[in-house]
Amino acid sequence: MKLLSTNGFIVYAKKMNEADMLLSYITEDYGKITCFANNARKSKKRFLGKLEPAMLTNIKFYEKPGMTLDILYEADIVEDYKNLRKDINIYLFLTKLTEISRILCQERDNSKNIFYLIKNIFKSLDKLETGAAERMPVSVNTVLLKYEIYFISNLLKFTGIYPNFSNCIECSESNLRNSFDFNLKKGGVICKSCAEDKNKGHAYSEIKKLPVNFINLSNLMTGSDLSIINKLAVNEEILTDCSIFLRDFLSFHTGKRLKSFETI
Ligand SMILES: [Zn+2]
Repeated sequence: MKLLSTNGFIVYAKKMNEADMLLSYITEDYGKITCFANNARKSKKRFLGKLEPAMLTNIKFYEKPGMTLDILYEADIVEDYKNLRKDINIYLFLTKLTEISRILCQERDNSKNIFYLIKNIFKSLDKLETGAAERMPVSVNTVLLKYEIYFISNLLKFTGIYPNFSNCIECSESNLRNSFDFNLKKGGVICKSCAEDKNKGHAYSEIKKLPVNFINLSNLMTGSDLSIINKLAVNEEILTDCSIFLRDFLSFHTGKRLKSFETI
């Protein structure tokens, strides 16, 4: 067994047996890893207070050849974004972020993009003064929706499932005015005549109208760093529509219900 070390964020934690835990991390060097933490809830020195969400930890784990599950040996806090666990709205966003990451990220995909995407978002959100909500020009919810769309759009890019918004998926006609509808099943836009062509067999329920400005918004967010969030003025209604569209796309694509979107 090899002992490996890397930095990571917990995206899934499940209690097992009396004191053990099963944990998934998005790591800096190994993509998503899932490990078994023996006696995690009793071992104070190695784990106590170090297995929280929104915490960057350095983890040491044993890799067993031929096994998908690693063995977590030890965790140490590198940075703690504790404000993310204090505010209920941010916490709800956090549950979305971790659930989507866990579902979309592949085990042992060693690109660092997703790790840094999460790290930058946590860093930035940790500084958000939610207590000063009355003084903020926009509501916390609006800001969090922007983070959500930024996160999901970029994650879709990094995992290679960002939809094709520029050409009809059937006939390749260019979506010049961003007026095409979206086919959830095929993961791309579809022109009017293809959508109405009965021979192509598009189920009505699979075709969605894209929210106003969604394509522009998503393209902007995948082409910029996080500072775009403060620069973009978009109203909450449009952002909510974008969030619902992304949820539907993700559910359809993964075949899973996203529980974190059902809390409200
Ligand atoms: Zn077409």
